[in-house]
Amino acid sequence: MSSLSAETTIALAQPDAVLGPLCDHLLEHDAQIRREPGETVILLGGGQARLRAGEGLLAVAIEAPDLAALQNLKRAIASHVVEFAPAGDKPVIGWSGDGQVASLPPEFRVLTVTSTEQLSPHMKRIHLRGDDIARYASLEALHVRLFLPPPDLAEPVWPMLGSDGLLQLPSPEQRPAVRKYTIRQIDVAAGTLAIDFVLHDDAGPGSAFAARARAGDLVGMAGPGGRGLKTAERYVFLCDETGLPAVGRMLENLPTSAQGLALIEVANAGEEQPLAAPAGISIRWLHREALPAGQASGLAEAFDALTWDADGPETYLWSATENEAFRHIRSAARQRLRTGLDQHLVVSYWRAGLSEDQHAAEKKAAARAA
Ligand SMILES: Cc1cc2nc3c(=O)[nH]c(=O)nc-3n(C[C@H](O)[C@H](O)[C@H](O)COP(=O)(O)OP(=O)(O)OC[C@H]3O[C@@H](n4cnc5c(N)ncnc54)[C@H](O)[C@@H]3O)c2cc1C
Repeated sequence: MSSLSAETTIALAQPDAVLGPLCDHLLEHDAQIRREPGETVILLGGGQARLRAGEGLLAVAIEAPDLAALQNLKRAIASHVVEFAPAGDKPVIGWSGDGQVASLPPEFRVLTVTSTEQLSPHMKRIHLRGDDIARYASLEALHVRLFLPPPDLAEPVWPMLGSDGLLQLPSPEQRPAVRKYTIRQIDVAAGTLAIDFVLHDDAGPGSAFAARARAGDLVGMAGPGGRGLKTAERYVFLCDETGLPAVGRMLENLPTSAQGLALIEVANAGEEQPLAAPAGISIRWLHREALPAGQASGLAEAFDALTWDADGPETYLWSATENEAFRHIRSAARQRLRTGLDQHLVVSYWRAGLSEDQHAAEKKAAARAA
């Protein structure tokens, strides 16, 4: 199957104690696992790894169709061997074969700011250029992780994949902050894309980067991720400013016959922006006016007021908001969505008072507890 291959033999006191949890974990990440006499075969991301547990060692042989698949599989195996090795066992991993040179991770791109555009007082569009960006163009996966270097650094330092297959992070002083953003526009042939940033109070690294961004600045980008547009007879979009880039992109990519509505919360009329959408989609702007972001109940109330007839059209609900509105809409949606008919994606894009890292950690803990 392959054109590239890599092998390693890792000394481990109890290789079986590592192999079991490694397989269980990769199964959760869409790997297929096959047990064959004397070996375990893992199929992941187009590549294949054969693992043999022997006396005090784990032998791994990987085959993959391209360098990205090879490196991803090397990293998946190496990082989980390290994670699941019993305390005191410090695995040393050295690969032979292809892909031995330290490199940027395959899903990572370095982008250069080309220009900026103030869309409204609190929304700034950053235009970027980068090579080989086709993987980021899907409407199925709209968001990316941006790596924002500390502003006082002369040269950005990016995470690298080491020759051991493990991710090497820059030192804490050099390490970029990571924030999730949505690709608002992308032109693969031209190698350009645009991201819309909310400029908010208590600016973290994302908002602060956008506020100071100038042509020539560099950012890292990894991904894409998430779930995006589905096909339905009716669309219901709900968002505040943070979900507006995704809704704007989905609206302009709907078929011209699409029906439904978009409810968009912004601070005031000055924060509205022109959106291209099919004639059958009505767009309603909700204004917070004096209330700070994250404290208005307009989206939740507007969702409650929507009709949802038992025999109405098959609906796709897409909602991205602050955490309070998210909690209300998710719980109301659970009561209203019709099993087997409606689809939905209801997510919390930020939480007032928490940075994105803190909010992501909280979401992870909640998912684990559930
Ligand atoms: C999948 C996904 C896609 C996203 N896409 C976009 C996008 O395209 N554009 C965009 O602007 N945002 C987007 N967001 C939201 C963005 O990631 C968060 O707003 C993030 O917290 C901003 O990072 P920061 O460094 O500016 O602030 P942080 O360091 O994360 O937070 C600092 C403080 O600012 C507050 N804060 C964060 N965001 C806001 C806000 N919008 N308004 C008011 N206060 C805020 C926090 O609660 C915290 O108190 C997306 C989020 C997700 C999960």
